[in-house]
Amino acid sequence: MTDKIQTYLAARRPPTPCLVVDLDIVEENYRRLAAALPTAEIYYAVKANPARPVIERLDRLGSGFDTASIYEIERCRALGIAPERMAYGSTVKKERDIAAAHGYGVSLFAFDSEAELAKLARAAPGARVLCRIAMEGEGADWPLSEKFGCHPDMAVDLLERARAVGLDPYGLSFHVGSQQRDTAQWDIAIGRSAVVFGALNRRGIELRMINLGGGFPARYRRDAPPVERYAEAISAALTRHFGNNLPLTMIEPGRCIPGDAGIIQTEVVLISRKSYVDDRRWIYLDIGRFGGLPEVLDEAIQYRLRTGRDGGPTGPVVIAGPTCDEVDILYENARYELPLALEVGDRIQILSAGAYTATYASVGFNGFPPLDEYYI
Ligand SMILES: *Cc1c(COP(=O)(O)O)cnc(C)c1O
Repeated sequence: MTDKIQTYLAARRPPTPCLVVDLDIVEENYRRLAAALPTAEIYYAVKANPARPVIERLDRLGSGFDTASIYEIERCRALGIAPERMAYGSTVKKERDIAAAHGYGVSLFAFDSEAELAKLARAAPGARVLCRIAMEGEGADWPLSEKFGCHPDMAVDLLERARAVGLDPYGLSFHVGSQQRDTAQWDIAIGRSAVVFGALNRRGIELRMINLGGGFPARYRRDAPPVERYAEAISAALTRHFGNNLPLTMIEPGRCIPGDAGIIQTEVVLISRKSYVDDRRWIYLDIGRFGGLPEVLDEAIQYRLRTGRDGGPTGPVVIAGPTCDEVDILYENARYELPLALEVGDRIQILSAGAYTATYASVGFNGFPPLDEYYI
């Protein structure tokens, strides 16, 4: 947690739960990634944190924006982002939304199926298209392994067809899985991409772009390499599979830009035990899965926690949210321990919570309002 956030919390004491994001860290994370991968175009994945101050800061740094819906496109548009700096990266779009985006001037779209290609041909004639190839999500804490992408053989045919229907077969995209901790996954994906590039080349089509996706990490409980290591792995893989004939590249970082920049301030509502023999305490917080922490699903994303009583003896805990839903348990099997001195009313900080939290909060499940957000 940065001094700036600490000072803010101490001075303002905002009601909990709330998300506080340090925009200077957002900027630092962007600059660090850009420096590590200087030849890749950056399209920030807006869905990770679409707050206006985040988009505005990244806009000033020259970032592009990867969008998941027409609503995100309209949001960016309202903030003055030029359409050439937006990509419509979802592979599941309504035809009228494609038409609207195209009407705004957006000209880069992803797809992974014949039916989506047909929509693009009708609604965005002449647009550049990236065919998303499937990855298995191995090594990722939050895999994106089944829902998106097609087999490379299918990608070859679809991109050939793209040209036949009046689109510009621009290249390929993939996503190796979010919070990907194995940098070797890019080598696999880039290797598959090279096969598709080669096959299309033999059919007279020169692809130009590889969209290397997201997957760059934030700092949670389990270690991940620094972004520089990802950049080295990617550069080495590009050289290995493409030699001197390097394609253009773009990346769509989400989590790694705002993730470490934010913390969620929470309050302990209840501490209880379920029997005289179980030594685990149940710690109920004023935020849970429905308040902006859905990524605790299957305990996949394990946030680092901080309390004002750290340093003393600790004991095992189950951590749960405040709603009446049984699934609103954050961590039961991940072996969290918290200080034995912890009391009802104490504050707990959830660290690296700047990505995939606030916009995931329910609008009012059990009457709890969405998460308050402060950008400083
Ligand atoms: C969510 C998403 C991203 C961002 O992924 P991170 O793992 O958060 O970096 C990038 N590209 C696409 C297409 C996405 O859906």
